[in-house]
Amino acid sequence: MTRPFVFPGLTTRVIFGHGTLAQVPAEVARLGRGRALVLSTPEQEGAARALAERLGPAAAGVFAGAAMHTPVAVTEEAVAAFRALGADCVVSLGGGSTTGLGKAIAVRTGADQVVIPTTYAGSEMTDILGETAGGEKTTRRDPAIRPEVVVYDVELTLTLPVGLTVTSALNAIAHAMEGFYAPDRNPVTEALARDALPAFRRALPRLVADPQDRAARADALYAAWCCSTALGYVSMALHHKLAHVLGGSFGLPHAETHAVLLPHTTAYNEPAVDGLLAPIAETFGEGSAGRGLWHFARGLGAPMRLADLGLAEADLDRAAEIATRNPYANPRPVTRDGIRQLLQQAFEGTCPG
Ligand code: NAD
Repeated sequence: MTRPFVFPGLTTRVIFGHGTLAQVPAEVARLGRGRALVLSTPEQEGAARALAERLGPAAAGVFAGAAMHTPVAVTEEAVAAFRALGADCVVSLGGGSTTGLGKAIAVRTGADQVVIPTTYAGSEMTDILGETAGGEKTTRRDPAIRPEVVVYDVELTLTLPVGLTVTSALNAIAHAMEGFYAPDRNPVTEALARDALPAFRRALPRLVADPQDRAARADALYAAWCCSTALGYVSMALHHKLAHVLGGSFGLPHAETHAVLLPHTTAYNEPAVDGLLAPIAETFGEGSAGRGLWHFARGLGAPMRLADLGLAEADLDRAAEIATRNPYANPRPVTRDGIRQLLQQAFEGTCPG
C-alpha cells in the first residue's frame, strides 16, 4: 500500500552535462549577480583562477583556502574577503570541502551560491552544513544553506584520482542508504536513491580500470546527483552521526571514513528496517546489503579498516561514548555496546555478519 508522504519540492536549479562550466557566467547573471567570489581548495586554485577569468568583470576575486570539515576560522577569513571585495554571490568549484565553505559564507551573508561539484561526495543539493571548531563538528540544516544553482560538468571529474573517485562515491551511496529508511523519505527520494545504485555499480569498476572513461564518469556523476538530492530532503541517522564524530573529533578523512563505515552501519540497521534496504542487497549481491557493500568496496580497492585511517584502538571507547551522547534518531536503538561493537568491526575491517 502506498504510504502517506510529504514532498517538500526541489528548489535547486541543476545543469548537467559535458562542458557545462561554460554556462557558469550566464548562471551568475541569471541570478541577477555580478560580483562572484570564486572558492576552491589550494589544490584547485588554478582551476578557480581560470574560472574567475572566464567570469571576467563578474568575478570579484578568488579565495582558495577551503579545507576539509569546514573549519570556522577559515570561514571567518573567507567572509572577511567576501565583504572586503564587495562580492554578491559565491561560485564554489570543487568537492564537499569547497561546497561547505560556500554554504558557510551563504548562511552568514545571505549570498547566492553556484556550485560546481568535482567529486561524488554529494553536498551540493543539501541544506546541511557541518562545521568544526574546538575539535567538535556541529551540523545544522537551514534553507539558506541550500545552493541556488548546481552545475555538473562531467569533464571536471576526469582528473579525480581513483582513490577519491571510489571513496566519495561510497560517501554518496551512504546518503542513499540512509534515505531508504529515513522516516521522512518520500517517493522522489526513494526513486533517486534506487536509480543511483546500478549507475554506481556499473561505473565504479570501469573507473578503477580507466579513470578517463567519460561514459562511466557521466554515470557516476549522475548517481552522485541522485544521492545528494535524496539526502537533501530526508533526515540523517547513525551512519552520518558516526562519520561526523570520527571526522570532527578524531580528524579522520571524510570520504575514507564514510567508505569504511558504510558496510557496518548498513549491517547494524538492516535487521531493523523491514526490507527497506533490499534495493542495496539486490544491486550488490551477497544476500545482504551490509555484506554486498563490503564486497563491492573491497573489489574497488577502497580502504576497509579504521585502523588504516589513523584511529587508535584506544579511541574506540571515546568514539562510542561521543556517538551515543546525542544520537540522531535511528531505526535500531543506538546503544553504547552496540556502537562499540560496530566500531570494533570497522576498526578491523571484518565482513559484517
Ligand atoms: P574534498 O572536497 O575535501 O576534496 C579532496 C581533495 O580533492 C581536495 O584537495 C580537492 O581540491 C581535490 N579534488 C576535488 N575534486 C577534484 C578533481 N576533480 N580533480 C582533482 N582533484 C580534486 O573532498 P570531498 O570528499 O568531496 O568532501 C569532503 C567534505 O565534504 C567534508 O568536509 C564533508 O563534511 C563535506 N560533505 C558535506 C555534505 C553535506 O551535505 N553537508 C555531504 C557530503 C560531504
